[in-house]
Amino acid sequence: MTDAYGWIEQSLQTIHRAGWSRSPQAIAGLPGAIVQMGGQSYLNFASNDYLGLAGDDRLIQAAIAATQQFGTGSTGSRLLTGHRPLHDQLERAIATLKQTEDALVFSSGYLANLGTIAALVGKRDLVLGDQYNHSSLQKGAIVSGATILSFAHGDMQDLYTKLSQQRSHFQRCLILTDTVFSMDGDLCALPEVLDLADQFDCMVLADEAHATGVFGETGAGCVEQLGCRGRSLIQMGTLSKALGSLGGFVAGSATLIDFLRNRAPTWVYTTGLSPADTAAAIAAIDIIQQEPQRRRQLWDNVTLLKQSIAQQPHLNVLPSASQILCVQLPTVEAALRVGQRLKDVGIFAPAIRPPTVPTSRIRLTIAATHQPNHIAKLANMLKVIEFE
Ligand SMILES: *Cc1c(COP(=O)(O)O)cnc(C)c1O
Repeated sequence: MTDAYGWIEQSLQTIHRAGWSRSPQAIAGLPGAIVQMGGQSYLNFASNDYLGLAGDDRLIQAAIAATQQFGTGSTGSRLLTGHRPLHDQLERAIATLKQTEDALVFSSGYLANLGTIAALVGKRDLVLGDQYNHSSLQKGAIVSGATILSFAHGDMQDLYTKLSQQRSHFQRCLILTDTVFSMDGDLCALPEVLDLADQFDCMVLADEAHATGVFGETGAGCVEQLGCRGRSLIQMGTLSKALGSLGGFVAGSATLIDFLRNRAPTWVYTTGLSPADTAAAIAAIDIIQQEPQRRRQLWDNVTLLKQSIAQQPHLNVLPSASQILCVQLPTVEAALRVGQRLKDVGIFAPAIRPPTVPTSRIRLTIAATHQPNHIAKLANMLKVIEFE
């Protein structure tokens, strides 16, 4: 008899041999600029908690109060027993922040992308996505059954060429792009993408996962920062990065949101966001509107680190316009070794390697909660570590 599961062991061995094997490391205690792992303290340059809200007492108290009032689980899908007044409140807060007519909250950002793309396009349609888009955008396109083409990263000429050649063969067309590219740290040329979308009669889904709460005068994201408010587009984001909670959202016209409530499978057929996550996200949106100084602190920290790194020509840094900064390494082994060396001196900034990204790198994320001496320590270590 053959073992139907034997291939899993073989496949896993291939992953190990390639140096692609990964496993989670537990962080003890509250999230923040300094975290505890395995009984040691580490300076944390790996978190998406950009404003330090995941450990903020106001979010914690909001989650506790909501749990006491509404229980731990929402007990059903939103259309059945899973809807609470908190969900309406959160969706109104998101729509106000984004200056859109309405918004819809999903159980995660990943599910927001999967369900939204699957609802918007199908067999007779075309999806055009930036080559470096997040996994959830890429998988959403596959789930939709549409024809999928990718364009070279940030290359508007390539997007134009593909639209000119292909657009007329399809019914609807959806362009997908991250606004802040999560593993590179550069930004999408959103105004140009929207111009091409207008020219070729396409919809655009802009993924603001790393931009919401961070970019723009009011923290609304890159759409605000790049002057694209008021233009026709679909904005998506997550509650789990700068907002310190869990869940995803889509913001746009009232018509779009009503349509998604009826057609997005990852919203209709899944349990509503928990009361604790919902209440924490409401508190977070309030804070990002009331405390712009958190954003200013974050950007001051980003400037400080970028200045220190600019003085170190041996570092091969990817172009970044965000709080995400990547130092490139020639091989997987080199990236793992640098990641380990940083860890040995108490800095958590792990290697990101294929297949997550095309080239190995150390990915650094900067937060409002980092102190100047944290950044100085990181910059000093980058100076003395061997990068070959
Ligand atoms: C993290 C991320 C998501 C998924 O959000 P979750 O809420 O963590 O599921 C989607 N898109 C991008 C670009 C992301 O970085």
